[in-house]
Amino acid sequence: MTDTDTSTEQDYDLVVLGAGSGGYACALRAAQLGLSVVLVEKGKVGGTCLHVGCIPTKALLHAAEVADSARESEQFGVNATFEGIDMGGVNKYKDGVVSRLFKGLTGLVKGRGITVVEGEGRLAGPRTVEVNGRRLVGRHVVLATGSYSKSLPGLEVDGHRILTSEHALTLDRVPASVIVLGGGVIGCEFASVWRSFGADVTIIEALPRLVAAEDEAVSTAVERAFRKRKIALRTGAPFESVETTDAGVRLTVQGGDTIEAEVLLVAVGRGPTTAGLGYEEQGVAMERGFVLTDERLRTNVDGVYAVGDIVPGLQLAHRGFQQGIFVAEEIAGLAPTPIDEAGIPRVTYSDPEIASVGMTETAARSTYGDAVQTLTYDLGGNGKSQILRTQGFVKLVRRTDGPVVGVHVVGARAGELIGEAQLIYNWEAHPEDVAPLVHAHPTQNEALGEAHLALAGKPLHAHS
Ligand SMILES: Cc1cc2nc3c(=O)[nH]c(=O)nc-3n(C[C@H](O)[C@H](O)[C@H](O)COP(=O)(O)OP(=O)(O)OC[C@H]3O[C@@H](n4cnc5c(N)ncnc54)[C@H](O)[C@@H]3O)c2cc1C
Repeated sequence: MTDTDTSTEQDYDLVVLGAGSGGYACALRAAQLGLSVVLVEKGKVGGTCLHVGCIPTKALLHAAEVADSARESEQFGVNATFEGIDMGGVNKYKDGVVSRLFKGLTGLVKGRGITVVEGEGRLAGPRTVEVNGRRLVGRHVVLATGSYSKSLPGLEVDGHRILTSEHALTLDRVPASVIVLGGGVIGCEFASVWRSFGADVTIIEALPRLVAAEDEAVSTAVERAFRKRKIALRTGAPFESVETTDAGVRLTVQGGDTIEAEVLLVAVGRGPTTAGLGYEEQGVAMERGFVLTDERLRTNVDGVYAVGDIVPGLQLAHRGFQQGIFVAEEIAGLAPTPIDEAGIPRVTYSDPEIASVGMTETAARSTYGDAVQTLTYDLGGNGKSQILRTQGFVKLVRRTDGPVVGVHVVGARAGELIGEAQLIYNWEAHPEDVAPLVHAHPTQNEALGEAHLALAGKPLHAHS
């Protein structure tokens, strides 16, 4: 329910500041456990993920897939013609998905009896959030103010030629050409969408490879696939400067090369939204703007917790969501098991998709030395991948004679495989445990099964 009470001070079991994935999950679970909860939000309940993050970008990526299917229909003996992208129609579809989910979420929040206070809140005391001149006092406070799109020195976002992902989601046209600055998850996803929509795309990345947090073999495969899709790549090319021109933007990379395009997307990472919110004044320990917590998500200030993108670690919705649930259960006295950050799955929804859980080969070798084995299973040997006409691989990393410590997948629909991979990783399964499992045929899960068979020394197909 939206709060209409205007008295200046109110007490709750829990005051949650920020209603994104972390904040609303915490509020919903806490209310379910019988706690009184107030949720303070300056924008819309649902936060980045629902309104300007996961959901709208994945809708665009699905529209991109439909466009590619139409273009490539002949390969499947289907007569269809691709006539172009109607951005009005794409945006209507995207916004429809968001608004249906928003309606469902607000209904759920209301149904659980959570009080929602609209406005910009700040931490005004160890257990107090101040908003619109009112003081909301909690037995506990959860900080969940999320993140914002960062830029670089000398790079001024104008929302017209130089865009953040938020601006990119509202474009009413497909630009003829785009520079994507940053080859991380968000950069690769937008590059993929725009290429499918027909734009000329160039990705500029300062690091030597795209998706640099992933296994090196993954970066190599994605770079190859992107080049095949005629996405131009400039890796190891740090940004130097940008100027706007009559036609758009001219970007200079270190060394002096210039690239021109109609628009520039700045996708250089997200910073924590914590400045000026009273956290430091109340003595909350911070580092580079992030709120520090222990594994039970407690800050150093008694009764104050933090969840989601403001806590150092993976900036992913399902992490914030799970942290929110954890904190609610902790406050309710259920003593939940701490979240294993390394077991959180990661998916990049570009074409091809990337999905991974656990350690890269390099990380495993730096932890376990030579006691590491890897196996790469080519999706070429997988029936469903042939049907989908996708290329890629499943790469397993295991401790020698021990459990699987990393699973890395590249290919269409790779994200759908990560559920099983996550269980394998989190349950510390050995390849020998997975090898006897029967996988439905024809699915891409069979590739996961066969990779484990091969790593257990019982290969059915050739592998490397
Ligand atoms: C383009 C894009 C695509 C993404 N795709 C994915 C994906 O596919 N999968 C995935 O897992 N993650 C994805 N993410 C990341 C995901 O959106 C975030 O990890 C997630 O939203 C973090 O949740 P949060 O609760 O920490 O913060 P947020 O969702 O950012 O929510 C914080 C909320 O706090 C509010 N707030 C901030 N300050 C105040 C204040 N002072 N007073 C009141 N309210 C305040 C904000 O308005 C906001 O609603 C994507 C992000 C972007 C930008």
